[in-house]
Amino acid sequence: MKIDIVSVFPEYFEVLNLSLMGKAQSKGLLEITAHNLRDWTHDVHHSVDDTPVGGGAGMVMKPEVWAECLDELLDLPAPNEDDSPNDVAAEDNDSSVAAPVLIFPNPSAPLFTQRDATELSHAEHLLFGCGRYEGYDSRIPDYYRAQGIDVREYSIGDYVLNGGEVAVSVMLEAITRLMPGFMGNPDSIVEESYTGEGALLEHRQYTKPAVWRGISVPEVLLSGDHGKVDRFRRDEALTRTNEIRPDLIEALDCKALDKADRKTLMALGWEVSAAHPRRLS
Ligand code: SAM
Repeated sequence: MKIDIVSVFPEYFEVLNLSLMGKAQSKGLLEITAHNLRDWTHDVHHSVDDTPVGGGAGMVMKPEVWAECLDELLDLPAPNEDDSPNDVAAEDNDSSVAAPVLIFPNPSAPLFTQRDATELSHAEHLLFGCGRYEGYDSRIPDYYRAQGIDVREYSIGDYVLNGGEVAVSVMLEAITRLMPGFMGNPDSIVEESYTGEGALLEHRQYTKPAVWRGISVPEVLLSGDHGKVDRFRRDEALTRTNEIRPDLIEALDCKALDKADRKTLMALGWEVSAAHPRRLS
């Protein structure tokens, strides 16, 4: 997977050379390049921002600088000033190149989820644009959408960061660990929180010793009875999800639940005879 990241702090991404992400680069699974947006400026101050049109606090990232950078990284021709965005899109139609996905982190965008990470783990080329200040001029994503580029804007959570760098690191880690060959043991990503159709929070995890500072692991995990262990873990997943993320229970498909799942959910106060579980108040 080819990954380009554009930021005014490209050094931020040196962290991606560590751990599994670093190994994946050495193996040739990932090719990550962090670019400095200021390399596409032409003024002495290398400015990438300007005051907001309409007034207000802070600065907004300028579309011209971003466009020069993105046109080059996306291999798009620079338009004539008289062209409409759609004229340019019609000129550029090389289907032989793997379609890139252009991603802007943005706190006022839809939430990035495991489902997005799974979908994007199959992409061949991701290009991330890190916002700073009050964010980027909104015409930038609009323009590239009009060129036929797959443009996504994602929030990583309901809070505001100083810039998109951390958000990109979060998304990249979630995406790349799902690529075939990335994890040493591929089974470790099969049964995780938020994963698959009937996504639940994972059961709690324990390792040895069986008793630590007077606290024992649940007895059943020592029984060697795989059926019982699986059922215990499944019930724990249902119980924790019910407590912490009942919205995930509401999204379950009742037809995919087994008899024991239904019994557990009913004991937790859910009605399971319709398409999705419904909480009995
Ligand atoms: N004025 C913006 C607002 O209130 O929505 C906040 C801009 S923030 C200070 C600057 C940049 O940080 C954003 O353009 C975005 O790239 C990134 N950012 C901040 N919080 C984020 C979040 N929760 N998810 C994704 N990106 C975020």
